[in-house]
Formats: sequence, C-alpha cells, structure tokens
Amino acid sequence: MSGLLVFGVVIASSVAVTLGLALTLRQWAYRRQFNYRPIESCVARFTGSNVGRISVRCSRDGFVIPDLKPDVVGGLLELDVRATVTGSLCDPAVEIEAQKYRDVQFLERGVRGIRFINVSRLVAARIAAGEKVKLRGRHIAWCDDTIRLHVCCERLNDNDRVLVVAPHPDDAEIAAFGLYADTNSTIVTITSGDGSDRFRDDNGVNVCLSRAAVARMRVWDSITVPQFGGVGPERAVNLCYPDGKLQLMHAEPNGAFCSDGDDGPDFAGLRRLNRSPLILDGAVCTWESLVRDLRHILSTVQPTVIVAPHPWLDPHLDHAFTTAAVCEAMQAEGLIEGRLFFYTNHNRCSELWPFGPAGSGVALLPMLAEHILECDGFYSHVLSSERQGEKFLALEAMHDLRDVGTPQAGLARPPWRRTRPEIAAALNGLRRPLASYMRRAVRPDEFFFTTSFANGRELSKRTLNRVAAGVS
Ligand SMILES: [Zn+2]
Repeated sequence: MSGLLVFGVVIASSVAVTLGLALTLRQWAYRRQFNYRPIESCVARFTGSNVGRISVRCSRDGFVIPDLKPDVVGGLLELDVRATVTGSLCDPAVEIEAQKYRDVQFLERGVRGIRFINVSRLVAARIAAGEKVKLRGRHIAWCDDTIRLHVCCERLNDNDRVLVVAPHPDDAEIAAFGLYADTNSTIVTITSGDGSDRFRDDNGVNVCLSRAAVARMRVWDSITVPQFGGVGPERAVNLCYPDGKLQLMHAEPNGAFCSDGDDGPDFAGLRRLNRSPLILDGAVCTWESLVRDLRHILSTVQPTVIVAPHPWLDPHLDHAFTTAAVCEAMQAEGLIEGRLFFYTNHNRCSELWPFGPAGSGVALLPMLAEHILECDGFYSHVLSSERQGEKFLALEAMHDLRDVGTPQAGLARPPWRRTRPEIAAALNGLRRPLASYMRRAVRPDEFFFTTSFANGRELSKRTLNRVAAGVS
C-alpha cells in the first residue's frame, strides 16, 4: 500500500514539474518577442486641435456613449488594465458590444497599465449618446473609474488626392490596402525589394532565385497587385532603388549604389517594367535621383494626403529614410498644404503587433514615454469584411508574403531543423510564422498617426538626428 502511495506521489510530482517547466518555457518564448516589459504603461500624446478628450465613467461591464460632435470619426479608449493569472499564459482580450456592433481586441500577455482600445468603428457606427457599451474581459480586468476617451476629427474627403509611399513591394498593401482602394490614390514603391531572403538556398525553399530574379518578381508584384484595390499600373509605380541601402544613399547623395556584380538587379531594366508616365527617363541609382523622381511625382499628383512610414515608431531604416526622401522632395517642391498619414508596418516594441488573430480589431500599438514624437492626431480606416477579403487576396498575391511550400528542401534538412519551429510554436502558443502579415494585416482597422506636412518634416528630421546619434 505504502509502495503504491510513493509511486503515486512520484508520478504526481513528475507531472507537476513537467507542467511547470512547459509553462515557464511558454512564457519565456513569448517574452522574447518583446523589447519592453508588458507591465509598463503606454502613452499617447496628440497635439492637434482636431483631437479632444472626454471623461467617461467606466464600470467593469462597460460605459455609456457620451455626446460626440458630428465631425468625430475616431476614438481611443484609455483603459488601465491588468491581465489575470491566466492572462500571463493566454492572450488577453477586450470584447466590445453595443446594439449590433461587435468587436474584440487583443493585448499582450501579462499586460498591466494604460492601454488604448481603438473604438473608431464604434464611433463610426453612430450609436446614440446614452446607449450602453458592454465591455467584457477575457483573461483581463480594468479599473472601474472615470476614464478618458480620445476623439479625433481627422478624415479623408472625396476630393483628397492620396499618395501612398511604400519602401518595399507589399508595404502599401500591408499598411493601406483598404485606404487606397477607397480613395483616389497613387502608389509609389521606392525599392525593388531585392534584399528579400525568402528564395535563398539557405532558407529551405524548392526553387532558389537570384537577387535579380527576386527584384523582377517583386517589382512586378508592386505594379500589378494594386489592381485588386482598383489602382491600375498607370498609378502604381516602382522606382527600383536598391533594398536596404537608403541610409547609405542618404549619407552620400550623389554616390551610385546599384553595382552588385553579375547577380545584382539591372536598375534601368527593372524601371522599364513600369507602365506609368510618372516614371522619369534617365534616372541613375543615387539619392539625388530618388528625390528628383519623388519631386516629379509630387508635382504631377499634387497629393493632399501622403501615406508614409512613421519615421520613428517604424524602426526599419529603409522605412525611416523613405519618409526622409519624401520630406526632402516635399520641401524642394514647396509643398505646404496637406497631411501626412504615418503607418507602422514594423514596430519598435514588438513585431507581434497587432496582437490576436486576423479579423480582430487593432488596439493602439504599444508606445512608451521614450518613443513619443508628437503627432497631431490619428485616423483609423474601416475595412468591411469584403474589403478584408480583398486585402487577404492582395497580400497572398505578393510572392514574398505568401506561404511557399518546401517539400524537397524540407526532406533535405535534418529532422530536428524541420520540427524545431513547430515545437517553438507549440511552446509559445502562437501560430507560425509568428509575425506573419497574413495574421497582422488582415484586420477591420488600418491605423495611422496624422500630422501636417510641416510637422511631419520636422518629425523626420528629429528621427534622422536620433539615428545619427545611435539612439535605439
Ligand atoms: Zn518594408
């Protein structure tokens, strides 16, 4: 009898130790995806006159819709949240429900402090003041107190001319497919995207492609895929500058940067893939030429809204220097009247953002006090479920984003290398690939920070100073 008891205790202890180890590994694997501690409060600071703050009494089960001016189109609900014990292991989420409106927005595991829930679609649903909005937490709770609702009047008008600027092929689709499909838009992609390692031998693919072939494929994608959103090749151009070199080009404005040897892309040949009069003849592969290209496009399109990467919150250097090139061209053209809409395809805090599965709402990205570079306001573009489906098709049509099969190369790899990613995914409870844009970008919201051309240029300049000073 005592022998059986000892055996039972040993088995129970082994199970407990194994379970504890698995949960610790799960948390460790998840936390590795973050450059900050989820217990830090986020900060949002908007300085424009079109942003207002309304005090709202919030209980554990929701709040009452306040009186909103008719021109308000965006809203961020500031909640002081705390993940429950299970919210350290499972994705915490806030469910929002009012009449026929339903939404769910996910936050990071173990979250504690101020976070901003995006209620712009709730505002757009025009539910009458005084109606109750139900909030329900999954693995999360919040302080029932007076909270702040940040509202913004930033909107796109029918007569706006929109220029979407993408550092690489697919950035325009990830950030702004819904926006460009719904407006009078022109798309300019700066680089050919030849730096992609997706089709390299060491990445375990069936078919390996040279840099030149990757460049042709991605330039072609960036010119043709926008047609899913109604933007034809006469208004979708790729300037074909080299991927990953914009910072170097900026440092040496008249240096040529396209000589990569025999395997390298053919700059002039790539540009001939374009079908638009927006492409200038006689361009050379220098920063000065890039700015000249952009000046020609700005003077032809005369955009009232320019959509570009946020120079600081999106930390990819090609993204920051794309915005720098646009700002230089704007200044040279004397473009004063208009607004910049900044997007963040990459994120300084975590590449997992937006959190949660495709189709769920997009809460504000994690922004800490040291990341703040003021913008005037914000704009969240609403995508219908049909538009989200089209966006999925557009992203899936991009060769560099779609899931490529790897049967032959997979067999050639040792079994442990094939199973390692699956084990990691099982451990951290996230689907593979972790930062897939098919999960992160197919959402009902496309979020932008907005500011004037003048403030945007200033913000870009301050970012370049930070980059030069080595601030990360
Ligand atoms: Zn990019």
